[in-house]
Amino acid sequence: MSLLSVVVPCYNEEEAIPLYYSAMTEVMERFGREYPDLDFEFVFVDDGSSDGTMKAIRDLRQKDERVHFVSFSRNFGKEAALFAGLSRSKGDMVVCMDVDLQDPPDLLVDMYRAVAEEGYDSAATRRVTRAGEPRIRSFFARMFYRLMNRISDTEFVDGARDYRIMTRRMVDAVLELGENNRFTKGIYSWVGFKTKWLEFENVERIVGESKWSFFGLLRYSFEAILGFSTAPLSFVISLGFVVTAFAFILIVFIVIRTLLFGDPTSGWPSMICIVVFFSGTQLLCTGIVGAYLGKTYLETKNRPIFIAREEE
Ligand code: UDP
Ligand code: MG
Repeated sequence: MSLLSVVVPCYNEEEAIPLYYSAMTEVMERFGREYPDLDFEFVFVDDGSSDGTMKAIRDLRQKDERVHFVSFSRNFGKEAALFAGLSRSKGDMVVCMDVDLQDPPDLLVDMYRAVAEEGYDSAATRRVTRAGEPRIRSFFARMFYRLMNRISDTEFVDGARDYRIMTRRMVDAVLELGENNRFTKGIYSWVGFKTKWLEFENVERIVGESKWSFFGLLRYSFEAILGFSTAPLSFVISLGFVVTAFAFILIVFIVIRTLLFGDPTSGWPSMICIVVFFSGTQLLCTGIVGAYLGKTYLETKNRPIFIAREEE
């Protein structure tokens, strides 16, 4: 017998949980026919929900002893929830999926096949359309992926979801990356392993609302840049070089001009422009360095990624 763990992060999803479970019941029946030797285990992670999420999970646990859960002491975010689920999972293979059915359960059989029979370590999914999403959001998402791939050595796949099945070996590798600033898509990609990509059309959330606001996503993308690239720091150095070179040329120019034409006291506007420009540049650069310093500070505290209030 082998065991497949299903990790499901939930934040205020009382309505979605029963729907998710019944969709999964159908899929598990299909698995039962095709792979009778496969057992399932669910690890629901309640990410500090304030609604009836825990009740919904407990109801499931009463019906089905394969259901386990970790309940957080507060909201730690999806990345922390995934980490908790992975670290509590016992399966030979683990799949992470959203509870809102935006990760189509039907795909799971194909994903499992890739790992169990086709020799892959992992099967990942990406959505090829972004239908139902605000245009401006899709636009920024595409720009973000383009930028990330330029400035980071880690590959970022546009439209990639966290919906992914992994072998135990890969899960252990993911867990070994114990950083606090977790951008899971980047971590999956960083650990490597042979991955098969499956594509699907975007599905809209079944009930409830996305937890992401536009600014939330913007902040998230900064986290990704800070976590997976030091290009902004190199940018600061390059900028420093350019500005210094410019300053040298300017000094030579001014000295020669003064020697040739004397020193008429004009040039106040240009002086102010230069002062303002360089003050801005310096603040920007200090800010970039500060952003990395801040992350370093938080990481050196070595705080736990999540705190569980209860688990079963
Ligand atoms: N989620 C979570 N903690 C959070 C926010 C979200 O565990 O702080 C879960 C949520 O319950 C869902 C998944 O992460 O199962 C994806 O969330 P959402 O649907 O809001 O994101 P989107 O699909 O819009 O990217
Ligand atoms: Mg969703």
